[in-house]
Amino acid sequence: MRIFGRALLALLALVAVVGGVLVVRTLTVKPIGAEGAPKIAAAPPIDVDRAAQRLAMAIRFQTISRQDQAFDPAPFDGLHAFLRETYPLTFSKFTVETPVGRSLLMTLPGSDPSLKPMLLMAHQDVVPVDTGSEDKWRAPPFAGAIADGYVLGRGATDDKGTLIAILEATEALLAQGFTPKRTIILAFGHDEEVSGSGAKAMAELLKSRGVTPWFALDEGLAIVDRFPLTGKTTALIGIAEKGYLTVKVTGVDVGGHSSMPPRLTAAEKVAKALVAIDDKGFPGGLESGPARLMLEALTPDLPFAQRLVMANLWLFRPVVEGEVGKSRAGEALMRTTVAPTILAGGTKENVLPQEASAIVNLRLHPRDTMESALARLRAAVAGIEGVTIEPLPRGQNASPVSTTTGDAYALIAATAQAVAPGVPVAPGLVLGATDSRHFAGVAENVYRFAPAVFTDADLAGIHGTDERLSIANIKRMTTFYAQLVATGAS
Ligand SMILES: [Zn+2]
Repeated sequence: MRIFGRALLALLALVAVVGGVLVVRTLTVKPIGAEGAPKIAAAPPIDVDRAAQRLAMAIRFQTISRQDQAFDPAPFDGLHAFLRETYPLTFSKFTVETPVGRSLLMTLPGSDPSLKPMLLMAHQDVVPVDTGSEDKWRAPPFAGAIADGYVLGRGATDDKGTLIAILEATEALLAQGFTPKRTIILAFGHDEEVSGSGAKAMAELLKSRGVTPWFALDEGLAIVDRFPLTGKTTALIGIAEKGYLTVKVTGVDVGGHSSMPPRLTAAEKVAKALVAIDDKGFPGGLESGPARLMLEALTPDLPFAQRLVMANLWLFRPVVEGEVGKSRAGEALMRTTVAPTILAGGTKENVLPQEASAIVNLRLHPRDTMESALARLRAAVAGIEGVTIEPLPRGQNASPVSTTTGDAYALIAATAQAVAPGVPVAPGLVLGATDSRHFAGVAENVYRFAPAVFTDADLAGIHGTDERLSIANIKRMTTFYAQLVATGAS
């Protein structure tokens, strides 16, 4: 009895201690980026309706990037002439360079050369409209229509909205007589949607000049309405983007008549290889990395019960990983994903193929590299004879992970909060690729964020039908860039 009594007491003491730790940690979590947040400067007056009309006009230049066609500079030349005419102060005070194609690299030198420049990015090109989908649009995709509080058309969000918002901001500041202490660089790529060669050339040019920007800010994430984790509107600042690797899995066999098949045909070898790759999977979770940082940043905004769990990942991490992994997006945040996309092999129903293949697309988490991922895939299929795995060209490692503790992150987060009051801000991981990847190793930190509030319907239009940007977002974005520059460059 006495022994049971002591054991019970010890257990109760342990529960009390653990419970105490859980509650203390729950009550003391602090938002990320809150320390060192600067006081945000007031925005200059901006004519939002005029900005919306200018975005509508920019959409009419059909600066389309096509995978399978030669680059046509004419629409870009038209867009440039329009921008020069519309933003005369910006185009006269900034030096304007075109290092390659029709990319624009613009620089306004600051008065204090000891301060590292800030670099703001957008791209001028847009994706084509799917053939046959044109009449599903509320307005023709290149008409540049404005209706019901939205600018409609291809590129409204991706990414001419940002392009126009940045130029509206610089023009309004210059009209007020603003002279920056810190150099401001604008980098507007012309082929983000195909190769990003423009951004690459601009990054190399800056590097060759020894320019190391304080930070680069590009598209990637935004203010999401509503974010599943918090159940409310949440601003996500991309601190990294996933890498890209496509491999070809090939199975070979001597072929022959299908009436006398070998133990494993070429097709079966590929099938077995895909199953083996799937079984092995990629490790991942919330031990560290952007997903972990995102949860930590959002924890203070969660209801008590959820906060208790998130503030104590040392205890609840496996449970949370299980929950996060239930959604596709959650899985993609935590690990490298593997998606077989094209299967091929065989030409006749009674002939054994001598070769069968699968194209498999991977999106690399920052913890994996192209080399380590390839090695993992090859190890997974090592036991299957007659199977090889080769990478296809155009692979790309994940970007480095930018810090959430520096003054650049604090500036972007605080400016986001200024245009979206009360909205929690957290770091995030961009699942696609942006032009900003070329600035890793050039800029100190790279962030990917547009200060626009996007609903699911807004997001569906990006690369889809009925792309649109609300006038409320144009106001938010223009104000954001003006405040970011006014605060960060003076
Ligand atoms: Zn884009």
